This record gives sequence, structure tokens and C-alpha cells, in this order.
Amino acid sequence: MTSMGEENLSAQWLRVRGRLRAEYGEAAYRSWLKPLTLLVIDDGRVRIGVPTDFMRDWVENQYGGRLLDLWRDENRAISDLEIVTNTAVPRRAAEPAAVAVADGRRAGVSDGRRAATVDDIGATLDTRLTFDNFVTGKPNELAFAAARRVAESGAVTFNPLFLYGGVGLGKTHLMHAIAWQIRKQSPERRIIYLSAEKFMYEFIRALRFKDTVSFKDQFRSVDVLMIDDFQFISGKDSTQEEFFHTFNALVDQNRQIVISADKSPNDLEGIEERMRSRLGWGLVADLHPTTYELRLGILQSKVERLKADVPGKVLEFLAHKITSNVRELEGALNRLLAYASLIGRPITLESTQEVLHDLLRANDRRVTIEEIQKRVAEHFNIKLAEMSSARRARAVARPRQVAMYLAKQLTARSLPEIGRKFGGRDHTTVMHAVRKVEELRGSDAAFAEDVELLRRMLES
Ligand code: ADP
Ligand code: MG
Repeated sequence: MTSMGEENLSAQWLRVRGRLRAEYGEAAYRSWLKPLTLLVIDDGRVRIGVPTDFMRDWVENQYGGRLLDLWRDENRAISDLEIVTNTAVPRRAAEPAAVAVADGRRAGVSDGRRAATVDDIGATLDTRLTFDNFVTGKPNELAFAAARRVAESGAVTFNPLFLYGGVGLGKTHLMHAIAWQIRKQSPERRIIYLSAEKFMYEFIRALRFKDTVSFKDQFRSVDVLMIDDFQFISGKDSTQEEFFHTFNALVDQNRQIVISADKSPNDLEGIEERMRSRLGWGLVADLHPTTYELRLGILQSKVERLKADVPGKVLEFLAHKITSNVRELEGALNRLLAYASLIGRPITLESTQEVLHDLLRANDRRVTIEEIQKRVAEHFNIKLAEMSSARRARAVARPRQVAMYLAKQLTARSLPEIGRKFGGRDHTTVMHAVRKVEELRGSDAAFAEDVELLRRMLES
């Protein structure tokens, strides 16, 4: 490893922390990121210590990916990150300080990063995450429309609004956007936005300090309660119970509730039946995996906003290659822009491939045609060999078409390459399969659901 002296590393760590602070805001930084300690870097792996197991899981979930990206930006020798519980770190440092709440009644609404006040619960809102900055397309238009309706209508419409979808597809973005819009339109409405973990954390803290009364009061006096990443509440019985009561109290008083999760209410695990059914009472809207068009649109809008100079070919390349989620897509673009500004050379297709080689490889590796064939065959209960057989009976031809379609969507393989993997078929056969599946998805809801399910399984 080169140039990794002690001084160098602490300077890098300092910069990483600085960027985390800028990106996540003062409150999140103080609660979760400040207590992190750099333990050691060895063989390309950074090890970061946190004071408790709970924090370890939380930090890993929420910030792990970004932490690694930031480290990599600082130091090319780094390839991996590990977060470990380190009891040597004083626990007190981990107690989150009170953080800001989106409450327009309090003074000082300026740029969204407001000073914390002592009795507040909730997370700061990110100024970038507005409706204006949200690019819409087929995969997210329903969720977007629902979010807007809830934010703009003033009265309670769907209660709760339940948004769900995979990682990095825009759930948090829409939630912040709702909060911003309501705050702008009706500054008198009191909003609490927080993650389910934070809810849990606050509740456990209240129990510990025997202060559940003010905990309840705080939550039950809001006009809009927004809980992000609800799936984390599952299983924790007392927290779920408390949430259930809060939920009912708010609905009874005609207050708006917005919830996001990675799965639909029906698919959430470890949720009590009565809670599950309540979650589905309002409107359930999902964010589908992105399409090429949407990814391209997001990149274009971002480049425009930043007034950056990136050739259209490069954006198309990225939209084509980085299919996992929007967060990665943005990360790739940011890295590219950072590179260009540091090196002072224009971005080209070649430099893009060079700068992003690891990311591009990871995206290629994500799912193979073999995996797709196997999953699809299992799903439709046919033999794997039928994927490459010449049989044209509907019972095998349709699943084969679905597999070809998914291969086109989920891998970066070309039509001829895909054809070859399906018993040496011609690229026009693959093209036909893709069209056929698209057509059926439009006309047959059950079929569309099947395909969607398979896609999600393969992508997870
Ligand atoms: P989730 O909460 O579903 O995991 P986020 O809302 O955090 O995902 O989105 C990840 C990143 O991608 C954010 O920076 C967000 O602004 C961006 N993003 C996601 N969807 C869109 C979109 N449709 N338009 C613009 N940016 C988007
Ligand atoms: Mg999120």
C-alpha cells in the first residue's frame, strides 16, 4: 500500500467525516456518525468502531455504502469496510442528541437545516429532496402522484399513504418532498419525519428513562407523522404495540400518516395481523425498479442542475450499465464529476470506463443469465433444459420468453449473446420475446405481477 502514513489517514478520516456531516446534516451526524472511530486499515479494509451492537447494525444499514464510497474517494487502496462493536468507545458518546423536527411553528425556517431544539424528535430534511427534483417515469408515477396529493391537498386524503419499493428507488426522497411541500403550504401543521429505527430508539429511551408519557404526547400531537423504513419496526413487540396505538390515535383524530417500507404491508415480516391490515387501509403505492428511460432522465436532470458538462453518450452508457438503483447511479455520476474536476480533463466514454471500472464490474456481476433461467424455470415449474430446448409448446415457450426478457432487462448482454444462451437462438427471437412480454405485461395483470416478482427476486 502506498502513502498511507498515520497522518495521511487521520486527515482522510477527517475529510470523510466532514463530507458525512455535510451530506447527512448536523443532527444525523451528531447522533450516529460522530461516535464512529477509525480503528485500523489493513489490506484494503477499513475497520470502524461503534459503541453498541444496535448502532453497528444501524450505521451499517444507513451509512455503510456511503462510508465506503467516501473512503474510496479518499484512498484508492481501500476496497472494503467493516463496522464493528468496540466497547472501548465510551457509550455516552452514542446517545443521540435531540434533533430537529419539521415544525413550521418554531422560528427559524430558512434553508431546512435548522438548529436543534431540546424536546424535538425527528430528522432534518434534506434540501435536495423535493418534488421538483424528482424525475418521474412509468416505474414511479403512481407513488409520485400519491405523494403529491397527500402533500398538496391540505385535508387528509389517503390514510395512511404507504410507499414501498427496493433500496435506492426514491422512497426517502418522496417522503422528504412531502414534508417540504406541506411545510411550505401550511407552516402551521406540525410534521414529524423519522426512521423506524429512530422511533424505536426513542421509545426504548423513553422506557429506560421512564418518560413514556411525554414520548406519547410528542407523537400524538402531530398533524403529520412520517415513518421511513418501517420494516425495521417489525418483530420488536413493544415498539410495534406503541406504534399501533399512536397510529390509531392519529387516524382517529384525522391526522395524516405516511409510511415507507421495502415491502408491501402483505409481505412485511414480523408484523402483527391487525397492524398489517391497518397499514393497507389507505393507499399503497409502490416504486418499481427503474427503467433505462428513467435512469437517463435522472442523470440528465442532475447534470442540468449541476450545470456539468457530460456528453450524452456517457449518460446513456451509465443509464444502460448501472441498473441496480438510483443511489448507485448518482454515486457513479458524482465520482465522474469529482474525477473531471480534479484532473481537469473532459469526461469521455473511455475515462468513464476507467474511473468506474469497479462499479461497472459489480453491476455486470449482479445477475447472470444462468441464474435467470434457473429462477424462471423454478417459478413456472418447468425443467431448466427447456430454456434451451427447441420445444415451442406455450407451457415452455412463455417462461422462456420471460427469461429472455429478464435477461435483457437485468444484464448488460446483447440480444445475440442472450440468444446464444437460449439454445443458440437468433437475436430476432429474443427481440420478439421482449416485445411479447412487454405487451402481455400491459394486458394481463397477473402475468405482470409474476414478472415483477421474478425481477425482484433476482435483483435482491
Ligand atoms: P430509498 O429511500 O428508496 O432507498 P432514496 O429516496 O434515498 O431511496 O433515493 C436514493 C437517491 O436517489 C437519492 O439521492 C434520491 O434523491 C435519488 N432518486 C431516487 N429516485 C429519484 C428520482 N425519481 N428522481 C431523482 N432522484 C431520485
Ligand atoms: Mg430510504
